[in-house]
Amino acid sequence: MDFLKEMACKRIHDRSENTMMSESRRRVVWVDGPVIIGAGPSGLATAACLKEKGIPSLILDRANCIASLWKLKTYNRLRLHLPKKFCMLPLMSFPPIYPNYPTKQDFVTYLEAYARHFNLEPEFNQTVVSARFDGLWRVTTVGIKMEEKEYVCQWLIVATGENAEEVIPEFEGIDKFVGPITHSSSYKSGDSYRGKRVLVVGCGNSGMEVSLDLCNCNASPSLVVRDSVHVLPQEMFGISTFGLAMKLLRWFHVKHVDRFLLAISHFMLGNTANVGLKRPILGPIELKITTGKTPVLDFGTLEKIRSGNIKVVPGIKKLTSHAVEFVDGKVENFDAIILATGYRSNVPDWLMGGDLFSDKDGFPKETFPKGWKGKNGLYAAGFTKRGLLGISFDAKRIADDIESCWKISK
Ligand SMILES: Cc1cc2nc3c(=O)[nH]c(=O)nc-3n(C[C@H](O)[C@H](O)[C@H](O)COP(=O)(O)OP(=O)(O)OC[C@H]3O[C@@H](n4cnc5c(N)ncnc54)[C@H](O)[C@@H]3O)c2cc1C
Repeated sequence: MDFLKEMACKRIHDRSENTMMSESRRRVVWVDGPVIIGAGPSGLATAACLKEKGIPSLILDRANCIASLWKLKTYNRLRLHLPKKFCMLPLMSFPPIYPNYPTKQDFVTYLEAYARHFNLEPEFNQTVVSARFDGLWRVTTVGIKMEEKEYVCQWLIVATGENAEEVIPEFEGIDKFVGPITHSSSYKSGDSYRGKRVLVVGCGNSGMEVSLDLCNCNASPSLVVRDSVHVLPQEMFGISTFGLAMKLLRWFHVKHVDRFLLAISHFMLGNTANVGLKRPILGPIELKITTGKTPVLDFGTLEKIRSGNIKVVPGIKKLTSHAVEFVDGKVENFDAIILATGYRSNVPDWLMGGDLFSDKDGFPKETFPKGWKGKNGLYAAGFTKRGLLGISFDAKRIADDIESCWKISK
């Protein structure tokens, strides 16, 4: 390890002699142990698993707090979609008093307790702008005063999340629309939309739940549905639909499980195609496994669509100052637009080289259960398309893997 450190410092010294002023002012820090980029659930879980094995790590995050997605970019009515037993991070359970589906605030409180319990102290306000390997990993960050830092380490764990950046679609005339256009990451509640006609673009879990919330706040939402979508009840026979599917998958082929889930969904929710929500050809679990597309859980939105309180509309053709023209030629006036159009990984924006991540979508090239480990000490935590459940899997595997090299290097 000392040899590596020496080498790193020598290279740093050599380079700073030859580089321009601005670069030589950059502070360089040697990190004994892995650098983890991201202080969300994945980064915290991985750091905790490492700590348990006596391996120090340094977590970097661009935000000024842990779990910034949950604290800053989610709506107030959010609860964990799956029962708590599927959402716990490794090594620490949820408090027993928590409800089966913890609220967003419960989850944030748990994450804060988790960070305290494992003494995790991320360096905040450090936006990673590049990471490259030249025998060691060199991670460059920019702070709030635009000061640069370079962290040099042997292992790099990418935990920047599947939802790092908002996806904002392009629409003809988007600059002409006079009302507010907001991404769902900035939506907190329907309070400020009372009495307004709101167009919600996107019918994933966020779009469906935001529409319901708007409706409960006496706004008039219309929901843009372009693609087919699987809507499932949150629970079947008092068991979470996800938990039931997991149990059935132990015994039956995925196609049979899907057929069963769809039959019960039809019984409980009726034919969703009748309200404009056509189902995809592949069943919900097979679709999730093959494409990562998550089925939408119904928390009451379907009923509001049936009663006409939420209107389903087709894709957008263009926007004008107060109205939206849809692909079927109809035109309607709106006061505001909420884009529930999802997120993307930002890994290709800053990770240079490495074989682990695809440049196209910023996800590991190999799908779950592979895809957590690359070459040269590079790891991916939290890119399994399996939410919090996948995070535990990654965190444990990564810590076990680094432990074997750590013992040798010490
Ligand atoms: C509205 C909403 C509801 C959800 N509900 C559920 C649910 O009920 N159950 C479930 O399992 N999953 C849910 N998810 C998915 C959820 O995002 C993940 O389960 C979980 O937050 C992923 O944790 P993570 O640590 O991998 O990523 P994140 O929580 O996104 O954390 C990544 C961290 O990396 C930081 N970061 C990103 N880029 C950089 C950079 N360049 N430099 C420095 N830091 C950076 C970010 O600031 C962030 O703090 C939901 C997502 C959304 C948006």
